[in-house]
Amino acid sequence: MKRIILFIIAAVITLSASAKLKYIFYFIGDGMGPNQVLAAEMYRAEMEGRIGRVPTLMSQFTVSGELSTFSASNGITDSSAAGTALATGTKTNNGTLGLSATGDTLSSIAEYLQSQGWGIGIMTSVAIDHATPGAFYGNDIKRSHYYAIGKQLTQTEFDFFGGAGFHHPQGKKDDKAHNLYDLAEQAGYTIVRSYDEAQRHLNDRRLIMIQPGDSAKVHSDNIGYAIDHIASNSTLKQIVQTSIPFLMNKYDRFFMMVEGGMIDYACHSNDGRTAIEEVWAMDEALQEAYNFYLQHPNETLILVTADHETGGMALGNSDYTLNLQVLQHQQCSQSVLTERFQQLYQDSTLTPSWEQVSQVWKDNLGFWNAVSINADEESQLREAYNTQDAEKMAATGVEILNRQAKLGWTSHAHTAHAVPLFAIGVGAELLGGWHDNSEVVPLIRQCLAKPKKCRR
Ligand SMILES: [Zn+2]
Repeated sequence: MKRIILFIIAAVITLSASAKLKYIFYFIGDGMGPNQVLAAEMYRAEMEGRIGRVPTLMSQFTVSGELSTFSASNGITDSSAAGTALATGTKTNNGTLGLSATGDTLSSIAEYLQSQGWGIGIMTSVAIDHATPGAFYGNDIKRSHYYAIGKQLTQTEFDFFGGAGFHHPQGKKDDKAHNLYDLAEQAGYTIVRSYDEAQRHLNDRRLIMIQPGDSAKVHSDNIGYAIDHIASNSTLKQIVQTSIPFLMNKYDRFFMMVEGGMIDYACHSNDGRTAIEEVWAMDEALQEAYNFYLQHPNETLILVTADHETGGMALGNSDYTLNLQVLQHQQCSQSVLTERFQQLYQDSTLTPSWEQVSQVWKDNLGFWNAVSINADEESQLREAYNTQDAEKMAATGVEILNRQAKLGWTSHAHTAHAVPLFAIGVGAELLGGWHDNSEVVPLIRQCLAKPKKCRR
């Protein structure tokens, strides 16, 4: 018995000494507070007919903690200030990307690792020049300068970008030479617009993986919500699935930032079910990283966190009950529901009747069928109908369903709530506990500098 214990101790010491960080996965759930994760887990348990959690992969990691997220200019951060803190270790003002509060140009962990010979992949479910991905390569006084940030992307020499295309690919109107897709191609990037196409270019020098609908003429925003199942588009999981072999074909070490960018969008709309499915979509993408970790446990660090919480999501809004399972009757996101109301109005020569509009709520939210509607709720719906405003009709329906699920929302914007942090792998234990978002990069660098101190 003694011998076995000694053998285990020796094995652990050998393992610790040989652990060298070569692969970093940095997952960021945009807008993902602790309750967004817990709601996703408790919803699935309710769907299994029980009270409790179906744990996400992230919440099963060996190390967990929380991050404060305030920016240099406010207690509540925006995505660019939070992204800058998470990417560079320095806080800045809301709205600023990759520059300090006093205007100094900051360098991200991705840029640092690139200079050390690492392969770099940046991927997201929103546009590749959005604030969170942008914080890993961009520097601009305004995050909304999408063209300038997109142009910086084309100059990064990073190996892989995935997500939706550029927000403003055209830049100067009618000036073909300045089109960002042209600039990217000139910089050695192959642009692919589907998962299948990407698989044929895994040996190309550099890759930008976007969606079939993304073009020089269309302003791209996102890959679509998981709940809406847009079959033509790649999922975040497929993007991660592509980037791993792409980087492994070229490098013996790599850094990947993966953003679940649409949790935030759903929470801005206070659309609980859509947010829940976005958390699960990021967790499915995380499974790809975890599978890689299982093959390279002594060389890989996976970190999952968020830039801020959005919506002030609360699990409970009135009494001692939670009724998340009612959300199962929601068939699409609030934004697609808005489009369905718009479609009804476009297709009708006369103003659609109350019955016609009710049918849309019935078909997409289960109202008057699986979901009973009381007199107060019906009058709220009639009020929305009277505005003839598609957005209002969709939002009112989703609001009623969320209220019935007992989900509370304090805001349509961001909050200063702490965000969760989960980690596994080489150096993960350094990240446990309560930290500020500006401490993550210094902790990763500490681990890179002193690999012997990073135990598995
Ligand atoms: Zn954000």
